[in-house]
Amino acid sequence: MVDYDVIIIGGGLAGLTAALHLRKNGHSILVLEKQQYPHHKVCGEYVSNEVLPYLEYLDITFSEFQVAQIDALQFSLVNGRTITTKLPLGGTGISRYAFDDLLFRKAKTQGVVFVFESVDKVHFENDRFLVTTQRENRFTSKITLGAYGKRSTLDMHFKRDFVQHKSTWLGVKAHYDFPDFPDNLVALHNFKGGYAGLSKTETGAVNFCYLTTYESFKSEKNIDSFNANVVSKNPFLAEFLREGEPLFQSPLSIAQISFDKKKAIENHMLMCGDSAGLIHPLCGNGMAMAIHSAKLASELISKYFSDTSFSRDQLEGAYQTTWDQTFQHRLWMGRRLQSLLLNPSLSQWALGAVGNSPWILNKLIKSTHGKPITS
Ligand SMILES: Cc1cc2nc3c(=O)[nH]c(=O)nc-3n(C[C@H](O)[C@H](O)[C@H](O)COP(=O)(O)OP(=O)(O)OC[C@H]3O[C@@H](n4cnc5c(N)ncnc54)[C@H](O)[C@@H]3O)c2cc1C
Repeated sequence: MVDYDVIIIGGGLAGLTAALHLRKNGHSILVLEKQQYPHHKVCGEYVSNEVLPYLEYLDITFSEFQVAQIDALQFSLVNGRTITTKLPLGGTGISRYAFDDLLFRKAKTQGVVFVFESVDKVHFENDRFLVTTQRENRFTSKITLGAYGKRSTLDMHFKRDFVQHKSTWLGVKAHYDFPDFPDNLVALHNFKGGYAGLSKTETGAVNFCYLTTYESFKSEKNIDSFNANVVSKNPFLAEFLREGEPLFQSPLSIAQISFDKKKAIENHMLMCGDSAGLIHPLCGNGMAMAIHSAKLASELISKYFSDTSFSRDQLEGAYQTTWDQTFQHRLWMGRRLQSLLLNPSLSQWALGAVGNSPWILNKLIKSTHGKPITS
């Protein structure tokens, strides 16, 4: 059985960032990831620029790609009523296909070990973790990070609260050729029971990604008819779907997306990214939170390895506290904004209010984002 300082379960943005950070600090790292790279993921692919200083610290730049520099937000309601505003910090348009693969390649060159298998058991005993994959391969470590995303069979294994009930959300994503779409824009268009984001990626393709409820989706039989009969009620989305050329054979979709509260510590594992909590996508901050949470966990783990007076209890307590202080308010704000947006009469009123006050709009955007993450 091979032993590591840290095992990371899940090689998405949180897992890969933590791998890079911990490896930079000299620890031996195993990432267990169930899918080979590169692969597409359901995601709006707008990354808040708050992550850029920290990515630079990890020697990650987007220089090999022609990423979209995004500094404007357009928002519309079903009736076509619109506001457009400058984004205080702005963001970068890059596909998950390219972004995750970039971090993976860097981590490999830094000596991070990857095994492409799904984990289905984690056992903690005598201050060590025993991690078992579906293929019955076993690995041990002093520390294990849970960075396996929104929902996994592991959540059943740990009997986490949020998997005890069904979640009502599903997400759909595809890339389109739509050359007229501005490089610097992220658009958020509302429709009955959901909203869609549009923004350019490094290939020039426009990413079209939406979140909706089962309640709204079940009125139609499939994605095509949902797009035609519900999504296209918004005139911007109608034009996009009419004029745009789909670049995927079929859209990707995920179900059972939960925004319920989760714990940042589970079975002594430090949980990072969506495994610790998912912000509503309309905020465009999930990827930044995943990366930031990996940084917070990595710093505390390195302290645990270097300072013998810093116990496991202290490590777990410090991570839960810092996670709450850093992200709870953002998550709360995301929930409030989402319920406002999906209530037709309230959203009309709110759009009127913020449309007349760029100051309020700016404040709202800032309250769902963090400050630039420095090392
Ligand atoms: C519809 C939608 C739109 C979004 N749009 C945006 C946006 O525009 N901007 C933004 O910042 N955020 C957005 N988000 C949020 C963002 O996608 C997530 O917050 C981000 O992907 C979290 O990264 P992560 O590393 O925690 O998880 P993930 O990227 O999901 O990575 C988890 C990894 O774990 C692996 N895994 C899972 N189970 C196991 C297992 N048992 N064993 C081994 N490996 C496993 C998976 O294969 C995966 O690679 C959106 C989310 C949704 C649902």
